[in-house]
Amino acid sequence: MGIPQIQKYRIARYVATRKLRGEERYPLVLMLEPLFQCNLACAGCGKIDYPKEILQKRMSVADALQAVDDCGAPVVSIPGGEPLIHREMPAIVAGIVARKKFVYLCTNAILLAKHIDEYTPSAYLTFSIHLDGNQHRHDESVCQEGVFDKAVAAIRLARSKGFRVTINCTLFTGENPDEVAEFFDEAMKLGIEGITVSPGYSYNHAPRQDVFLGRSASKRLFREIFRRARGRTSRPRWAFNHSTLFLDFLAGNQAYQCTPWSNPTYNIFGWQRPCYLLSDEGYAPTYRSLIEDTEWERYGVGRNPRCDNCMAHCGYEGTAVNDAFRHPLKALVVSLRGPRVSGPMLPELPVLYGERPQTNEIAIPVDAVARASRGSGAAGARVQ
Ligand code: SF4
Ligand code: SF4
Repeated sequence: MGIPQIQKYRIARYVATRKLRGEERYPLVLMLEPLFQCNLACAGCGKIDYPKEILQKRMSVADALQAVDDCGAPVVSIPGGEPLIHREMPAIVAGIVARKKFVYLCTNAILLAKHIDEYTPSAYLTFSIHLDGNQHRHDESVCQEGVFDKAVAAIRLARSKGFRVTINCTLFTGENPDEVAEFFDEAMKLGIEGITVSPGYSYNHAPRQDVFLGRSASKRLFREIFRRARGRTSRPRWAFNHSTLFLDFLAGNQAYQCTPWSNPTYNIFGWQRPCYLLSDEGYAPTYRSLIEDTEWERYGVGRNPRCDNCMAHCGYEGTAVNDAFRHPLKALVVSLRGPRVSGPMLPELPVLYGERPQTNEIAIPVDAVARASRGSGAAGARVQ
């Protein structure tokens, strides 16, 4: 299935318009975080370690819709926290859908059965359900047994009611490519539209830098996973909720720089500089200030040690889309052949800041991840 043609067309038209206007920095996906509170405490989450008074805060419907209007991105992703905890979430979603923006409502699905009738199926609304792997792997990742079963039941329920559904999968250390491939097969059989996949991101001040996938390990893992999609006849075809060049980037075949302005983040503190993942670089009071006053050149691989291990879609999908516009033939070839899974990988971009810190790759499994409080340095973040 994958992203519907109408959505691809609308996004392509939007990008072409922005380019014709000569805009250097334009948003593709607004990351709208209307609360940080969650009903889970996942091992790899860097979003929920705020004090209670922050966790209890909610973004108003008016604020959320103002951010959607100010930003103008054609796609709005609503992560959290757990958005379904927010009592006014149906009104926020309805307001975005009324603006004909494509909404991805990211949820761990625990509350979906209770709230699903507050939403109306629409070509503009997709439930993006958090599933990090098979039953054992996912329950381990979210640190609670039984969540996988609830998520799968919620996917079936949402599909039966005619909603668009994707899954949102973050890969951590110790992933087995065979298991990931089997998980993708099973997920597709549930009737989902596609898979959003990303290696988990780690903050540089996290107590354990060796917990999350480094870039080299990520690329090797993605090659192994994509290799398992080759030559299949009887097994389901995987559909990803990404551009083909972003998948090629994950496999080490594109040396992209991050374009964080393509996925601006608005939350209860304001417009977060520079991206969804870096949470202590300050906030801009307005979207315009975010775009005009952020020192973008300070961020990205080779430019900032905190970006060293990041290959997240919120930083690089926009770059890949931009590249597809500049090199449509390359995008077409990759789309027809799939990402290359052998041969040399492209070298990393040069390091432009001081001395590169030591980065260790896969060493600690996800069940060994201990969350640290925000006050003492937050743990890594899964990418919603
Ligand atoms: S990763 Fe998502 S589901 Fe897990 S604790 Fe964080 S916000 Fe909640
Ligand atoms: S590389 Fe980009 S998306 Fe990743 S942490 Fe740095 S600024 Fe954020």
